[in-house]
Amino acid sequence: MTHIPRTDVLIVGSGIMGSLVARLLRESDPALHLTMADGGTSIGGAPGRHLHDLDDPELWSRYNEKVATGIQGMYTGAEVVREVADSLPDLTPGMFHALAFGEDAEAMPQAALAWNAGGMGVHWTAATPWPAGDEVFDFGDPDAWAADLITARRLLAVTPAAIGPTKVGELVLDVLRRRYGDAGPADRAPQPMPMAVTPTPSGPMPRTAPGTIFPALAEGGDPAFTLLTGTLVTALTQGDAGRVTGARLRRVADGTESELRAGTVVVCADALRTPQLLYASRIRPEALGRCLNEHAFVTARVLLDLDRFGLDPGALPLPRPGEFSTDSLWLPCNGPGRPFHGQIMNRTYVDGAGRPLAHSVGLSLYVPVESRPQNRLVFSAHETDLAGLPRIRVEFGYSETDRALIRRALDEVRSLAEEFGPFDPDTESTVLPPGSSLHLTGTVRAGVTDDGTSVCDPDGRVWGFDNLYLAGNGVVPTAMAANVTLTGAVTAVRAARAVTART
Ligand SMILES: Cc1cc2nc3c(=O)[nH]c(=O)nc-3n(C[C@H](O)[C@H](O)[C@H](O)COP(=O)(O)OP(=O)(O)OC[C@H]3O[C@@H](n4cnc5c(N)ncnc54)[C@H](O)[C@@H]3O)c2cc1C
Repeated sequence: MTHIPRTDVLIVGSGIMGSLVARLLRESDPALHLTMADGGTSIGGAPGRHLHDLDDPELWSRYNEKVATGIQGMYTGAEVVREVADSLPDLTPGMFHALAFGEDAEAMPQAALAWNAGGMGVHWTAATPWPAGDEVFDFGDPDAWAADLITARRLLAVTPAAIGPTKVGELVLDVLRRRYGDAGPADRAPQPMPMAVTPTPSGPMPRTAPGTIFPALAEGGDPAFTLLTGTLVTALTQGDAGRVTGARLRRVADGTESELRAGTVVVCADALRTPQLLYASRIRPEALGRCLNEHAFVTARVLLDLDRFGLDPGALPLPRPGEFSTDSLWLPCNGPGRPFHGQIMNRTYVDGAGRPLAHSVGLSLYVPVESRPQNRLVFSAHETDLAGLPRIRVEFGYSETDRALIRRALDEVRSLAEEFGPFDPDTESTVLPPGSSLHLTGTVRAGVTDDGTSVCDPDGRVWGFDNLYLAGNGVVPTAMAANVTLTGAVTAVRAARAVTART
């Protein structure tokens, strides 16, 4: 066992959450020594750069092929892969179904893990709607929540109207506004989808990714920052009661073990592997892994009836070069009357010569699911997954209330789709299998008191520990309808501020 020099803060995970924490800690102290460890390695030359923005034509076209459905669950493959690789070093970095990583995840078959530097943040679509109503967890301080949300939006470079609306996108928005526009505050009206991108006048729009949030990740040049890729954190080490002393690391390529001492540890290893690492470190509060949540995913696609809308095929919009959809639109959830979050991504189909033929309206409704302790992760004391960490069993199902809301969403999507063109709900809409949204939450949830129903305090500090923090979607305690990353980013903002206050 070798020892590497001590670091001030160890960040586990180089995804969006880890990079947000690193960025904020660096803004507050240019000399603070930060070490970031990630089990995965870089896809392409620069760790943490989004695949949408790589110069490598092969990687770029592979990415675009996967992302073209507009459904994140399909990105890892429409067919669930259950075959587990022979060994971890054999894996090409990328996204893998949890089942293919050796987890017992049949209850959530489409759940997937990032195994690469930059995590899911180099693959994501970057839709960043803001939370409202029951999604918000301000713990009684709405002003602090609002300020942290603004910080999260700034760091993710959230752009209000990024992809569209084109003229046809405006027609789609008109229909949405007629149906839903009157109810609720103006910021919950149908509108273009906010996206975490850098706006450009033409051509592709670069996505916000770990390497743009914290540029030293992709470019280096920060003498007080050490990035350890291909380095699995196998356990957090503990000293006196209530303190972690650092972590045990294993280099994936050759199995070399080492120990790293750290003043503070922030775990940002996603909603499945953050609780897994705590369990592996014998940190096992009652709420660990419980209240696993994921909104249900109802999806539909309808071809726009051009006659009904008085459109000529020649008038159909084409996407900007380098983008796959013409419009990315948002129907925000809005209280019990409209509990669903709508993500609408539209495409124009072209013939071999690039002439527009038809336009499809891609309608996805995310249905909030009740937070229940019986939906949970269970960690095995005996079996391990591909990484050699405690095997995760996923226990997940829908309550009667959830099922009723899913049926309501199916009715809603049918009547909405019929506004745009002829629609067959049996063949053109479906409820995707659990895991498909990749928006898992709740497994290391925050709470205001250490009463057994939460794992960490509102700042992400693990109950009973002085210097161990968590950040990411797993910390989110509320049932989310919208895409979760912007909301998860609030937990990173809070954890970074708390770490800054103590270092
Ligand atoms: C195709 C796709 C599209 C998406 N679209 C959207 C969208 O439009 N909007 C939205 O809100 N969300 C979207 N998401 C989800 C979004 O990407 C995630 O919510 C977000 O990136 C999670 O960030 P994270 O840092 O918490 O986790 P991750 O990105 O999963 O990063 C965790 C990192 O931790 C590392 N790690 C785990 N365990 C260990 C360990 N023990 N030791 C060392 N390293 C470890 C992993 O290798 C990984 O790199 C999408 C995801 C995908 C894949």
